[in-house]
Amino acid sequence: MHASNYNNKNLNLHNLVATSKFGTFFGVSQKIFDEVWQKLTASDANSVVYISMEIGADPDVFHPVKDKLMDLEKTDSMDSRLKKFIKKLFHGPEKIPCYGGGLGVLAGDTLKSFADCRIPVVAVSLLYRDGYFSQIVDSKLGQISQIVEWLPEDTPGLYLLQDPENPGTPLQIQIPFFNEYDQETMASAHVWMKMEVNHTLDYFIPELLLDFSLDDNPAPIRDAAGRLYNSESSIIKATQRRMLGTGILPVMQAMGITSSTLHLNEQHGVVVALQLIAEELMGSLKHTDLSQATDEQILSAADKVAKSLVYTIHTPVKAGHDRFNKSVYAGISHKSCRHILELLAHDTESPHSYNFTTLAMRVNRTANSVSRLHRDVTHKQFPDFAEKITAITNGVHHLTWISDARAELFDNFPELADWRSNPGALRNTVALKDNKRFRTYLLRAWEEDSSLLYSFVNSMLLQHRNQMTSTWIDPPNHYSNIIDIDTKLDPAVFTVGFARRFSTYKRADLIFDNVDTLCAIAVDNNWPINFLFSGKAHPADEPGKSVIKLILDYQHELHTKSNGLVNLIFIPNYDMKIAKLMVAGVHAWLNNPKRPLEASGTSGMKAALNGIPNLSIMDGWWVEGYHDGLTGWKFGYEGPIDEADLSESPETLLYTEDSASFYEILPKVLEEFYEDADKSKFIDKAIMNLSLNIPIFNTHRMAAEYLQKYKINLPPSLQSRMDTFAELYNSNE
Ligand SMILES: *Cc1c(COP(=O)(O)O)cnc(C)c1O
Repeated sequence: MHASNYNNKNLNLHNLVATSKFGTFFGVSQKIFDEVWQKLTASDANSVVYISMEIGADPDVFHPVKDKLMDLEKTDSMDSRLKKFIKKLFHGPEKIPCYGGGLGVLAGDTLKSFADCRIPVVAVSLLYRDGYFSQIVDSKLGQISQIVEWLPEDTPGLYLLQDPENPGTPLQIQIPFFNEYDQETMASAHVWMKMEVNHTLDYFIPELLLDFSLDDNPAPIRDAAGRLYNSESSIIKATQRRMLGTGILPVMQAMGITSSTLHLNEQHGVVVALQLIAEELMGSLKHTDLSQATDEQILSAADKVAKSLVYTIHTPVKAGHDRFNKSVYAGISHKSCRHILELLAHDTESPHSYNFTTLAMRVNRTANSVSRLHRDVTHKQFPDFAEKITAITNGVHHLTWISDARAELFDNFPELADWRSNPGALRNTVALKDNKRFRTYLLRAWEEDSSLLYSFVNSMLLQHRNQMTSTWIDPPNHYSNIIDIDTKLDPAVFTVGFARRFSTYKRADLIFDNVDTLCAIAVDNNWPINFLFSGKAHPADEPGKSVIKLILDYQHELHTKSNGLVNLIFIPNYDMKIAKLMVAGVHAWLNNPKRPLEASGTSGMKAALNGIPNLSIMDGWWVEGYHDGLTGWKFGYEGPIDEADLSESPETLLYTEDSASFYEILPKVLEEFYEDADKSKFIDKAIMNLSLNIPIFNTHRMAAEYLQKYKINLPPSLQSRMDTFAELYNSNE
């Protein structure tokens, strides 16, 4: 298709600049820019608005524009306009810290696949000037959170949109907030656009990030605008959700976006449904005073509005379902809005709260869970809506998460040609299973990625040792204290990776439940093991933070009881860059949530895409990605699930049972790893991951399944291409 447009050395940088009434943008040509804009603003409304509280798409793990310029050695320009863009691209910040974890990274990966597949989608989210926190870890204090300082103004690929009516001033949207007396205050937002440019530089998804931290806004609005998932008070939390939900229609209007389908990535933005219902009442029913609307009129308006909404629910964990006390909500919303909530956001557990998950479940055309097991659990949690809840299993963006070394390997085998635009092509790795050259190169690529990971870890440990002498921080690694300056961790040692948010149900400390048993496995067979752990706990999550502290406390005991064979290392400040190093460089990816609370999980898919076997509880995606031992190992409880299994309380977390099951499986894993120098059993598992799991657990396939729900019309050639991705799997089987 368009893939070769820019493949010549004569790429004219001017072909990467586009101008519109909203500003000047770098990364795609004017033609492409106009094409995207035309689709999003067309009168046929044949496009989708994707709504998410967070988007994780750090430029340091995926940046096709930068890669292309590096390839062509065009890292500077004489033209002053281009110079500005290119300087930013090569010297600006490499992170956009507006994500907290899996939900945001999934959103970013999804949008990247929409861009690769040229689907007319625009995303709306918020811009957080204080980001999500940055994590320092101290061995005595545990996690310390700090505000991230970043400047959107300096960040490449991010643009403050201009007001077409008033050139030279930023575009502003306004949304009303109310107090308990229904007095209106207006809050304004600037609109930033991140361009998610695809890998062939011939399409992009605009991500519109609303920035409410303007000086003129009332203080409560500014307070709620700064930090993602600020939960200092429920009013701040409710205000933050409301900024997203009520911002959507005004930003669409200001930019002329006509999309007929709105996709709620989690219920955070569901207040948009209230606005659509209000518009419907004012429009078709000619109510100017909404408080006059009857219950029947509201319910019928809700049914109409539901036709344009698609809803993805991401967790069975109750804390993930927003509920706000009615009196709190009265402090920011209008009473007519509360009337709608009374009818549609009923909370079965408390008559004093509105339940926004109920609202999202109620007002949509179709809802989906994020794995098959999660679908079954969601059916039990929401029996009234079971009929419309299907499964669309999550995926990850293969071009973001497959390491450079693995990508180079794939490029070198003609059987896998086209894998960049079609992840299904990697199915053909099964034909290379007995190909010596492929096996050797795969092992080499793996070793190369392990070396990269270990050079990062070893220099981090060195830095921690220096920190210890020069600051008040006690380094987060016992290992930093006990070794001399020249000792380094060895990448040839069997390495287990574990990295994700620290929530209690994810049980980061599970496998250390019995340190004696764990150490005996290593000592009895002389099998060294390195455990590399990383992850943040939400600053208000005290139990989550105490699990981090526990992990740090186990380090010394593990080291001494195993005579130095077992080392547990903690890597602070988990982000996409660290994730990418880890999911390609370890030998097994550990996942041990309490079943069935991990609705999907995606970090294990990132490992699988690099051929790394998972060592996991049968939960979330692994129920689908585990193929009778071919792709990795399973352990722990896998029986039936009832209401009680949804509890997160400590006594229900099955530590003893599931850790015992882990100690049973671990010796088999270690034996396979250490038994031969060719790592033949591991290479077998790697190849089965590439051939069985890449074609399924990627966001191209996932996007294709979402498209079937969106009901938008694509040109026939594009539609048939998406059909080939959808045919790779049927999540809802
Ligand atoms: C992939 C990813 C996650 C999600 O991991 P889970 O296994 O789904 O918990 C969280 N944070 C970062 C930085 C990631 O890259």
